[in-house]
Amino acid sequence: MVARRAPVARAGVRVGKRGRCKAIARRCGATPCYHPAAARARPADPMADSQTPYRKHNSFVEIRQRRAPPEARARLEKVRAAATDMGLSPDAAALVRRACDEALGRATASAPHQPFTLQANVVEEIGRLTDAEIPRYLHYRYRYEVYPDRRLLDDYPPCLQIEPTSSCNFRCVFCYQTDKPFTARKNGHMGVMPLDLFKRVVDQAQGHVEAVTLASRGEPTLCPHLDKMLAYAAGKFLGLKVNTNASLLTEALCHALLAADVNTLVFSADAADETAYRKLRVGGDLRKVLENVKRFHDIRRRDYPASRLITRVSGVKVPGAGELNDMERFWGDYVDQVAFVNYNPWENAYEAPPTAIAAPCSDLWRRMFIWWDGRANPCDVDFKSTLSVGDAARQDLSALWRSGPYETLRRDHLEARRGSRHPCARCSVV
Ligand code: SF4
Repeated sequence: MVARRAPVARAGVRVGKRGRCKAIARRCGATPCYHPAAARARPADPMADSQTPYRKHNSFVEIRQRRAPPEARARLEKVRAAATDMGLSPDAAALVRRACDEALGRATASAPHQPFTLQANVVEEIGRLTDAEIPRYLHYRYRYEVYPDRRLLDDYPPCLQIEPTSSCNFRCVFCYQTDKPFTARKNGHMGVMPLDLFKRVVDQAQGHVEAVTLASRGEPTLCPHLDKMLAYAAGKFLGLKVNTNASLLTEALCHALLAADVNTLVFSADAADETAYRKLRVGGDLRKVLENVKRFHDIRRRDYPASRLITRVSGVKVPGAGELNDMERFWGDYVDQVAFVNYNPWENAYEAPPTAIAAPCSDLWRRMFIWWDGRANPCDVDFKSTLSVGDAARQDLSALWRSGPYETLRRDHLEARRGSRHPCARCSVV
């Protein structure tokens, strides 16, 4: 429950007499308002301070898993012993051995860096892999977690987010889909990725990138050929992930997701009751979403008993979101994990007050986004792509990842010039 406080005026936030956010009063209707902009107007709120760094390397507030994580140490011991005989290049084998050593506590990282550790969700993912797949997984996971912290780069991003479409049927209060100039068709941000472009990106990523997420600014199930994209990506990545609001999850799409051996399917939801859900997920219907998630669960159990998929209900921890215990009670029978991630002010990156954060943004070493039209971007906080680093329709992924604009942006962050870049100066991601 959000405590009432006297309204406090701050740049970019319109607050009425009773602390009610005027900007979205028509949508929200709550006093106090659940809108993050209003939340930021309450300085005592821990989420109110836009100066607080948003630590991207672990954005989970909390995660609960249905199964106890399986034992992974013994398997890592085996992988470490056999790393040189598993068909890896000498460099990759050395990296896998290093990952095992750090995870097993036999090697540490030099300060101020953290050693690679096995978080519960990582152990769960390892538990679903064959022994032969674990080196590939560790090679990706170590680069995903450790490289951004140590500012290391190689030829491909540890993670690639491909956007099937930028459109969404929801207007969640914390999301940039509430930005009208962004969603206005005439401004050119809305569209669907052509299948040929998707295949080109997948072909280049295969064998170099293991974590591929089909989602970014829009709702992927709105893409009319998502089923074909899934079929094309099937079996090519160890970390194929899809994020969806589950409102349009038809029976056919359930089969397409399961047949493609997607590794992680995230259902975005932040509440366990209809009133709270509607206030946050504007345009959504909790009853319908629950029906769809249940149906997915039933199809999986009935037709794909050997599926290795991990399903997760994941919410954004904003005022008005449910408590994790309630979420677990509501969703827990139908998914493997229930989690909350920290709120990041995605919806107004361009208008937020400048921060005093000087630390570099770790995502510049972690992931790259390919928008529906091929535009490559370093993040989706910059949802209007002012930081674009190139075009995947014309340039190769590796060339984009190490392109001049990307390297300049990284250097600006490393050399304390983050404040000179827009919208990095107003963004709290580190
Ligand atoms: S806007 Fe800049 S600081 Fe924020 S996530 Fe994007 S690249 Fe990182």
